[in-house]
Amino acid sequence: MKNIPVLPRGLRLRRRRELRYKEPIRQRKKGSVRVAKSMERLLELQECDLEIARIRREMDDIPKRKAQMESALDAQKARVAEADRTLLEAQGRIRRAEGEIAEAHAQERKYREQQLQIKSNDEYRALETQIAALKTRVSALEDDELAAMDEVEALKAKAAEQKAELARQAERVDAEVKDYLSRAEGLGAELASLETDRAARAAEVDPGWLARYDRIASKGGPAVAIVEHGTCGRCHMKLSPAQAVQARRRDELVFCDFCGHILYAPA
Ligand SMILES: [Zn+2]
Repeated sequence: MKNIPVLPRGLRLRRRRELRYKEPIRQRKKGSVRVAKSMERLLELQECDLEIARIRREMDDIPKRKAQMESALDAQKARVAEADRTLLEAQGRIRRAEGEIAEAHAQERKYREQQLQIKSNDEYRALETQIAALKTRVSALEDDELAAMDEVEALKAKAAEQKAELARQAERVDAEVKDYLSRAEGLGAELASLETDRAARAAEVDPGWLARYDRIASKGGPAVAIVEHGTCGRCHMKLSPAQAVQARRRDELVFCDFCGHILYAPA
């Protein structure tokens, strides 16, 4: 939850309350809702739509965050597997060195037996040379074995540390996923209530206005642009004086000549 960039909860609730109670919706019987050609109503509808869009974005974000955490967990699993593999490799080196040492000792015994049968000094010396070479080889193998043994100790510690880290991460991910799920549930409820609110607000807006508003809003982003210092708040182009005056009247839909958005000029 802490990674999702959202408005602080208090502020969000306040915005919701403002939306809902600034101008209470008359709960009349169906068909008797007063339809207004009022820019204020349209602007409130837009606020509601922006809030809905924000919640939808937040809801869409949840599976992405979840996937990110799960892929971080997979990366840690891969580190554990790698540590285990390196450890097995080092243990294999010890076994191989031990096998070769045993073979060298057996060979040496064979040479010694051969020496007992030999009559010529030259042959005897030749075997002595072979035996000396074997001893050198065994000594090198023993060094390798000792080095591998030291390595195994370090690798065991490393593998254990990676596994402990994996357990910690798995626990964290588990808790966060639970958090996300309950958050998604909360957002779902919030969305449903906003959508009800939206329907009630939409019923208060002139249907012709609503259709044009919806068409512009369907292209993404707010449909109503606030006029500030005579420029369109959406495309920031300077409006003609006539258009600015028209927008200030707020009793008809005025569209920006440049971007086509509905213009609203605050009093
Ligand atoms: Zn514009």
